[in-house]
Amino acid sequence: MKRIAILGSTGSIGTQTLEVVRENGDIEVTALAAGRNIDLLERQIREFGPKLAAVWDEKLAADLRGRVRDLDVEIASGMDGLIRVSTEEKADILVTAIVGMIGIRPTIEAIRAGKDIALANKETLVTAGHIIMPLARERGVSILPVDSEHSAIFQSLQGGQEKALKKILLTASGGPFRGRKKADLAGVQVEDALKHPNWEMGRKITIDSSTMVNKGLEVIEAKWLFGVDVDQIQVVVQPQSVVHSMVEYEDGAVIAQLGTPDMKLPIQYALYYPQRRYLPGERLDFWSIGKLEFEKPDTETFGALALAYEAGHAGGSLPTVFNAANEKAVALFLERRIGYLEITELIRACMEEHVNIPSPTLEEILDTEAGVYAYIDSRLGRR
Ligand code: NDP
Repeated sequence: MKRIAILGSTGSIGTQTLEVVRENGDIEVTALAAGRNIDLLERQIREFGPKLAAVWDEKLAADLRGRVRDLDVEIASGMDGLIRVSTEEKADILVTAIVGMIGIRPTIEAIRAGKDIALANKETLVTAGHIIMPLARERGVSILPVDSEHSAIFQSLQGGQEKALKKILLTASGGPFRGRKKADLAGVQVEDALKHPNWEMGRKITIDSSTMVNKGLEVIEAKWLFGVDVDQIQVVVQPQSVVHSMVEYEDGAVIAQLGTPDMKLPIQYALYYPQRRYLPGERLDFWSIGKLEFEKPDTETFGALALAYEAGHAGGSLPTVFNAANEKAVALFLERRIGYLEITELIRACMEEHVNIPSPTLEEILDTEAGVYAYIDSRLGRR
């Protein structure tokens, strides 16, 4: 029986992971961590029976402790709680379904403890890939992609052909504003940006998809996962989200993975790799799909994608700046404190301001994040 722990069990990826667990019936859940949603976490504890759970906020953790007094479960809190969940003794795999850079430390500790990582939390790899990938190799643990595009690339690479890999063709839906020009986007409201055409996801990644920051993060994520240069990664807009990504080999052959937009497939593939199992749900019907379209991304309008390439090329602490500036800017946009186009403008300003640190330590990554937040605060405070 497999044993898993989940960081971010109450979110979009976390709940779908638990659906996969429920449908398969042969995975034990040893530990769960959530941010604030203790109602759902309590239900998950009652259904899946972990012996350890964590809530970020200590007050909410105390509340939850009272609610689950009748069960044999310990409730931890804060960063200590996240690390305890990520290193829980019995788990074989940690699913990192938490959102944002907060996932870095627990992920590193899990690798140190010898856990395989089913990685959804791309912000961790973007900012600390140079620490995580060598550490994983050293500890002999696998980093299994959950992101649908990276899972598609991983699936297309099966058969040991990695050495002959020429190019990664990373597909993008183009988001809700595909085809629009920058001037059309000035008045975009939170509700408009939260309408993704094909995927149901958490709020932050949905905004990131609309600005194409998400695709930028995925370019850097792919660089680390598959050990390629960012120049070997080409973004291809595929509006139907049927082709989840492709790889091109030395001989010109292109191998792709196609499917319906259902995150349970990459989640299940990561949990059972290299096994494939039955997964309930819709299947592709090519007669009704009719045709697939492909386009070049518009990096004039979606300038964040070009900024991500710049950060990915430079490496060092610049990807942290790209990511941290975006995390802060998206939070401000969701609070309606800045306009939509300011998300990308803030990322650009923070990147211009930053003096790159070539191979930052974990402390330097976290300092860089704090510096970016302080810079944005001071910039916004001035107006
Ligand atoms: P959601 O916003 O839906 O969920 C985020 C999860 O993280 C929630 O369980 C939330 O808890 C938890 N969380 C947030 N802050 C903390 C904290 N301080 N301590 C503990 N838990 C915390 O996000 P998604 O599921 O959409 O995304 C998760 C990650 O997966 C992101 O990195 C995203 O980029 C990536 N991803 C998501 C995809 C998707 O389809 N959704 C696809 C590919 C990648 P709570 O809600 O209880 O506060």
